[in-house]
Order: sequence, then structure tokens, then C-alpha cells
Amino acid sequence: MSISVIGSGFSGLSASALLAAKGNTVTVYEKNDTIGGRARTIQSNGFVFDMGPSWYWMPDVFERYYNLFDRTAADFYELKKLNPGFRVIFGVNDYIDVPEDFDQLCSLFESIEKGSAEKLKKFITQAEYKYKVGMADMVYLPGHSIKEFMSISLLKDAINIQLFSSFKKHVRSYFKNPRLIAIIEFPVLFLGAMPKDTPALYSLMNYAGLKQGTFYPMGGFGKVVEAFKKIAIDSGVIFKTSENVERFQLQNRSISHIISNGKSIETNAVIASADYQHIESKLLPKEFRSYDDSYWNKKTFAPSCLIYYLGVNKKVDKLIHHNLFFDENIEEHAKEIYKDKKWPKKPLFYVCCPSKTDPSVAPEGSENLFLLMPISPGLQDEEETRESYYTIMMDRLCKYVGEDIRSNIVYKKSYSVSNFINDYNAYKGNAYGLANTLSQTAILKPKMKSKKVDNLFFAGQLTVPGPGVPPSIISGQIAATELMKSFKSKI
Ligand SMILES: Cc1cc2nc3c(=O)[nH]c(=O)nc-3n(C[C@H](O)[C@H](O)[C@H](O)COP(=O)(O)OP(=O)(O)OC[C@H]3O[C@@H](n4cnc5c(N)ncnc54)[C@H](O)[C@@H]3O)c2cc1C
Repeated sequence: MSISVIGSGFSGLSASALLAAKGNTVTVYEKNDTIGGRARTIQSNGFVFDMGPSWYWMPDVFERYYNLFDRTAADFYELKKLNPGFRVIFGVNDYIDVPEDFDQLCSLFESIEKGSAEKLKKFITQAEYKYKVGMADMVYLPGHSIKEFMSISLLKDAINIQLFSSFKKHVRSYFKNPRLIAIIEFPVLFLGAMPKDTPALYSLMNYAGLKQGTFYPMGGFGKVVEAFKKIAIDSGVIFKTSENVERFQLQNRSISHIISNGKSIETNAVIASADYQHIESKLLPKEFRSYDDSYWNKKTFAPSCLIYYLGVNKKVDKLIHHNLFFDENIEEHAKEIYKDKKWPKKPLFYVCCPSKTDPSVAPEGSENLFLLMPISPGLQDEEETRESYYTIMMDRLCKYVGEDIRSNIVYKKSYSVSNFINDYNAYKGNAYGLANTLSQTAILKPKMKSKKVDNLFFAGQLTVPGPGVPPSIISGQIAATELMKSFKSKI
């Protein structure tokens, strides 16, 4: 069978290799000239910048995928566990380093809030249960219908793992200190939605971040993309880059051809791993769309962001690998992203400095910096606006590190809303797809199988299970399985 995969992000890479390994002829069409989607890299004068992901969480999800091909992460890259995992900065000389060791983390919590060590243990034990149930079984469900959750044990689990209650309430029933709450809430806030709108299920991310730990693939995330590409090529996948799929041609209720760069190519089935809204609204005739414009308009999207990739020609001693600048009001910034949808007055931001761990990503004696500030999708992002936030972030960064590094910047590139739109056809320039809110989880996400086109399946961060590299890998796995199931039933 001939299968076309649109997009070479992690979801497309994951699906394509699995389908090719089953004996199908699989071609990946990618509009950009390099593979990897939002996880591409920029290379310039000895600097290697990961354009997107920098936190390698849930290593078991990567491993589970590699094992399907009798491979392991170590076949492709060295995985380092970071210690400290990350730093949360509240002021110039006021920060918390989150240690790799969980017992040390408990002592740290206790030193900030009396009684919180025991509470953290309980919180993480429950998060671990959610992770094990959620990641082992539930997350691999296609989310077609509530019936999938109807086995007694899964339904019981859905209640136990708090699929239906709020993360904000859950966290506050354990901790009172705002700093501890910030440590717990930041992954949800940076990658998803307001904690009050997020299911308590997502404390499973705290198990990942605080107990399993924060990892780094030496060489950067580009090495992970290379690993996925190698597996795909070894399985027989054909890659076609600089191929912009423009539309589908249908016969009855099936796609018969894809039109790419003006050429018509016959196909038996399609995995659409580019942004769901783009595929539906730009590639399908109106009568075959499952969701209209007003549907997408009402959805809560995860944030977009303003990023600066910076090469610095000297070492910056006070930074560690992951630095979260939480020296302004977290609630205010969250409100500006998710509710007011405007540029923030006093933003929180994140500084990644992978050259602290990995000498291969910057020339000797230099640092590789990545500044990221989450913003609402759909904002205007003119150069002047970007620069004004560069100044804000740099002022705070320089004050914190205790030296002015502005004159040492030898590489500088910004990236924001309009780049996400131009490069990835991202709806409103979203960075991380659809947020994991209470009304957008599991069966409530856009469906993986098109409701109106029999041979069209969706994968990626706008469908199940959600945003992030591990969920995107899983999404590709589920889409490939569903496509194979659907065709087997017809033979
Ligand atoms: C700045 C940033 C930081 C992040 N940080 C982290 C992190 O630290 N940890 C983590 O786990 N996750 C992180 N993420 C999220 C993670 O990177 C994504 O969830 C994941 O990579 C998405 O994969 P995907 O396959 O769904 O989509 P994509 O990677 O977007 O792939 C879709 C592909 O489709 C292509 N395409 C679009 N339209 C067409 C068309 N018409 N024809 C052909 N091709 C087309 C696009 O060019 C793109 O390559 C981050 C994301 C961003 C943007």
C-alpha cells in the first residue's frame, strides 16, 4: 500500500517508520528543506541551536519507540541526566536549584515550607500512579469514543488519575508556598494552559520532571531527530523535502492523489502530521472538513513564543543549563497569555544554555543561549516589538549574571508568531499545538481519524495525546496503528 505522510516532525517520523516496517511504501513530504519540524536546528559559525525542544523528559517513551525497532537511545546518542535539573530564579541572588536526587528535593521543599517533604512524597506517588496508568495504557488510546474508557478498570483509573478535576486545586491542596507552587506549575503553564483549566492528571508531568529527572541528548535534540530519521530510512521510508503539499484530490470519500509543488501523486492513504487546522482548512474541500473555522477559533491553543537564539563569545558563569526567570508575577503573565491575549507587561522567560553540558554546541570559550518568552498565539510580532522584549529580557539576564553580555553577542536571531506561521503553517503561530485543558483532553480533542474522509488520519500536537515531543511520538504510533487497523478491516 502506498502511504503519504505530510510533515517530518516527530509525529510524522514516528508514524512513517512504523508503517514502512509493516511493508508499506511510505513517502514523507516536508515543506521545509530539512527534517524535524519544530525540532529542527540552526547551525552557524560553530553554534548549533535547537530551534524548539530542549527538555528531554519521559525517556521511557523514547525508549519504548526505539525498542519497537530493536534499538535503544544509546545506539544514537548519549543521554545525560542534568544535576541540577533546572533553576528557578526569583531575584538576583535568590534562586532554587531543583536537584536530580528526589530525597534532596524533599529536604529542599521542607526547608521552604514545613511539612512539605511528606506532602511532596504523597503528591509524587500519586503522580507516578497517573504516569504509569496514563502513559502505559490510556495515552495510547486513539480517543475515538468514550467506549475506549469503558472497561471498569480504565474508568476507575480515569477517576483515580484525576482526568476530570483541576490541576490548580490539586496542587494547592498540597502546597501553600508560592515558590513551591511555581516549581510544580511551570510545565503546565509554559506548555499548556492556566492551571485552573488543566486536568489534575497532568501532575504526571511532575513525576517526569521531578522524579524521573531532566535529561539532555548530547549533541542536542537534532541528534534525536537524526535517530528517528535513521530508523525511518532503515525501514524504507522515502523523504521528500521542500515539498509543500497544497491540496488533496478525492474520489468518493477517499483521497486518491495529493498535490505537492504542483504535481499530482497517487496515494492509498494519508497521515497528516502537519498542524490539523492547516490540513483541514487548506488542503481539503469544504464539504470534507470535520471542523469549521468557528471550531478552531473557540479552541484554547497552547502559547506561541518569542525566541532569541544567541551566540555569546565568552563564558557566562552564573547560568546553568535550564534557567527559569520567575522574578515577576506568574499569575499576571499567565492571564496575559491565556485570557487577555496581549503582549505581557512583565514577562517570565526561560534561558537555555546547553553549552554548559555540551561543548559541541558552541565554539570553545563561547556560550549557546536560547531565550524563550511564552506569549499568546495570534499577536502581531513586528521587529520593533520583538526588540523591545529583547531589551527587557537582556536587562534582567545581565543584571542576574552580573555582567553586560550584550557586546559579546556574535549571533542573534529572533523567532516568533509569524515565523511559526510561515515555517510550519501553524494556526495563529502556535508553538505547542492545542492546550491540554479540561475540555480538550482525550476524546475531546480533534479526532485522529477524519470523520468524512476514509483514508485520512491525523497525528501531531493538535490531536491525541497532546503537545510535547513524547506525546508527538506516541501520536504517530497511534495514527499508524489506526491506519493499519482500518485497512485490514477492509481487506
Ligand atoms: C520553541 C519550542 C520549544 C519546545 N520545547 C519542548 C521541550 O522542551 N520538550 C518537549 O518535549 N517538547 C517541546 N516542544 C514541543 C515539541 O517540539 C512539539 O510538540 C513536537 O516537536 C511537535 O511535533 P509534530 O510532529 O506534532 O509537529 P511539527 O514538528 O510541527 O511537524 C509538522 C511538520 O509539517 C510540516 N508541514 C506543514 N504544512 C505542510 C504542508 N502543507 N506540506 C508539507 N509539510 C508541511 C512542517 O513544516 C513541519 O515540519 C517545544 C516546541 C517549541 C516550538
